[in-house]
Amino acid sequence: MAPAELAPPTLRDVLDARRLLAAHLDPTPARTYAALDHATGARVVVKHENLQPTGAFKVRGALNLLLRLGPDERARGVTAFSTGNHAQAVAHAARTTDTPCTIVMPTDPNPTKADAVRDLGARLVLAGATFDDAREHAAALAADDGSRLVSAANEPLLVAGVATAYLELLERAPHLDVLVVPVGGGSGAAAACLVAHALAPDLEVVAVQSSGSPAAHDSWRAGDVLARANTSRAEGLATGTGFALTQAVLRAHLADFVLVDDHAIDRAAALYLTAARTVAEGAGAAALAAVLADPERFAGRRVGVVCSGGNASPAELRRVAAHLPG
Ligand SMILES: *Cc1c(COP(=O)(O)O)cnc(C)c1O
Repeated sequence: MAPAELAPPTLRDVLDARRLLAAHLDPTPARTYAALDHATGARVVVKHENLQPTGAFKVRGALNLLLRLGPDERARGVTAFSTGNHAQAVAHAARTTDTPCTIVMPTDPNPTKADAVRDLGARLVLAGATFDDAREHAAALAADDGSRLVSAANEPLLVAGVATAYLELLERAPHLDVLVVPVGGGSGAAAACLVAHALAPDLEVVAVQSSGSPAAHDSWRAGDVLARANTSRAEGLATGTGFALTQAVLRAHLADFVLVDDHAIDRAAALYLTAARTVAEGAGAAALAAVLADPERFAGRRVGVVCSGGNASPAELRRVAAHLPG
């Protein structure tokens, strides 16, 4: 099936995903911090997806997809391409479901993420300079060995699984005014839009990507699926093209899409360390960076920010530490 024909998940699909995932994943905390409110001028609720067993939200989608594979499909295995967190998510889900798993990562991966994939028992193939090169390599591998290629975004079951995070958040924080979601392929923002549209239609969903990798942002602004330069250090945000399925959902429901630069992301990650005592990787800090970048827009409002992942590399932690006070 061509990606353009994929139908986005419904609220019912999200509720099904929640039932399936309940045996495998605990809900993540949604917390407030006086120091974050002070720093932003907003009333911030942090959704702590950095506390997932794989350190990022993507495990929700991968588990939802792999738990539903039939026995034949499972035996043929899965192949995924990723800069890291999708890889860990699919490897974790493959281990949970006894599915053979091949992961293709670009040749210079975040070592924290590459090690985690190996520790989870997946076959790791390093190929291509970027996410987009790794994708082509993975597609060729899967065509060759008959395994199921698991896209990072053009997968309705993946979006439905990810959407369970937003069910949890809206139950814990039903009166949010705005929800800020980081974007790479767009599964997280599409999931947030679908849940907000169904359950909290007045909630404004705002997406954020890095100005170093603006493909999803520019695709949304243009109403088309575009390719763009892809140089952000924040792996989770670093995609060079928009994805048809998630772009279609964002076009229908997203309120706004903003860009922040990688330095602002580092400062937000440092603030997470001091104000929330939590480790955010770059993509995980992007939503907070967007709130810090536009204080007038968010002043006094109830703002949900998704701390989407915590798998910062050692080099990244050292760079972020340079922004700590004192
Ligand atoms: C993948 C990822 C994102 C972006 O999510 P998409 O669903 O691809 O838009 C944001 N943060 C982290 C930590 C990620 O791993």
